[in-house]
Amino acid sequence: MYSINANFLKLQKNYLFADIAHRVNAFKEAHPEANIIRLGIGDVTRPLAPAVIEALHKAVDEQASAETFRGYGPEHGYEFLRQAIADNDFAPRGIDIDIDEIFINDGAKSDTGNFGDILGKDCTVCVTDPIYPVYIDSNVMGGRAGDFDNGAWSRVTYCPCNAENDFVPAIPDHPTDLIYLCYPNNPTGTTLSKAELQKWVEYALRHNSLILYDAAYEAYITRPDVPHSIYEIEGAKRCAVEFHSFSKTAGFTGLRCGYTVVPRELEVDAENGERVQLNQLWNRRQCTKFNGTPYIVQRAAEAVYSPEGKRQVRETIDYYMTNARIMREALAEAGLKTFGGVDAPYIWLQTPGIGSWEFFDRLLNEIHVVSTPGVGFGPSGEGYIRLTAFGRREDCEEAMKRLKSL
Ligand SMILES: *Cc1c(COP(=O)(O)O)cnc(C)c1O
Repeated sequence: MYSINANFLKLQKNYLFADIAHRVNAFKEAHPEANIIRLGIGDVTRPLAPAVIEALHKAVDEQASAETFRGYGPEHGYEFLRQAIADNDFAPRGIDIDIDEIFINDGAKSDTGNFGDILGKDCTVCVTDPIYPVYIDSNVMGGRAGDFDNGAWSRVTYCPCNAENDFVPAIPDHPTDLIYLCYPNNPTGTTLSKAELQKWVEYALRHNSLILYDAAYEAYITRPDVPHSIYEIEGAKRCAVEFHSFSKTAGFTGLRCGYTVVPRELEVDAENGERVQLNQLWNRRQCTKFNGTPYIVQRAAEAVYSPEGKRQVRETIDYYMTNARIMREALAEAGLKTFGGVDAPYIWLQTPGIGSWEFFDRLLNEIHVVSTPGVGFGPSGEGYIRLTAFGRREDCEEAMKRLKSL
């Protein structure tokens, strides 16, 4: 008789989005005439940039003739894209990343989840709280999270981020092995300064820990002191991998493309005493389990770095960030306290002294606006809700008008 990976049975059911859908549907049934505005969605809404569409068409046409047809590509990704990434995302910031340290993938969710394949079962885990659920759930599947007691996993260290500490997580007072950092942060929309990030790098180097740095929202950074990459910090190449995505940067949530940076300097002592490069292990893992991102999608991603592509992608990001500004200002006028929304498309709203779900219900029932309850992202999210700036301008403006009337 076969057995299953019993760790999957330990996973806690994530009711968050199902619960939201349930409450919204019930409200709709009772009030079919209500014009509901959804500020809860984590997906983009603007179309792909014209330069990206043009590159896609061209790449599709290439597939139509034997001379230009492309079949299996390199598992690492095509050199044209890896070179464009090194030249545009890293070199201008003074970061020297070799193209062999870049692995193209089908999105950051895959690699943040899959990276555990090459890491030991005994590693302990550290996360900031609230967080993107993939980091914890993938470690539950990998057997690293321990047991779920009292709303927390026994082998996971949670670093609370809230208004009291201005969303700057305290460094753990004990060693942990795998540290997940996401900046700019989903869900809080907050960032870490270089000085704060430096403390995490020093901690990781001191304890031989690995930082898994999720930079999915890097393109939304506006303030100069906010690091775009962990490799802006001295020593980070010896302790960190970094995940990027074209999803939020350029609207690739449906097209699917991202990349992972695994520096060659990232080495660890294996049990047999060998010194091992994570870059080699990850390459071996990808060559075995992944056959590459579609050629046409990689050409589309390359176009994000063309002069027109850059300009067009920037316009869309500016559109979302103008939504964020309109929302921040309106919420402040309404006397509500918000965080984020300056270097990220998320606004983290402190509820006026009531629970996340209670405030969610008030917004839905009284002004017909859908938000995301913060507690769904972890215990420290209680007392907050997340609003996204990915919607249409008219909807943001209308929602804010209604909010002021609340
Ligand atoms: C949206 C998002 C990603 C990107 O995921 P893709 O798989 O690239 O679409 C990664 N990390 C976080 C925290 C996100 O919110």
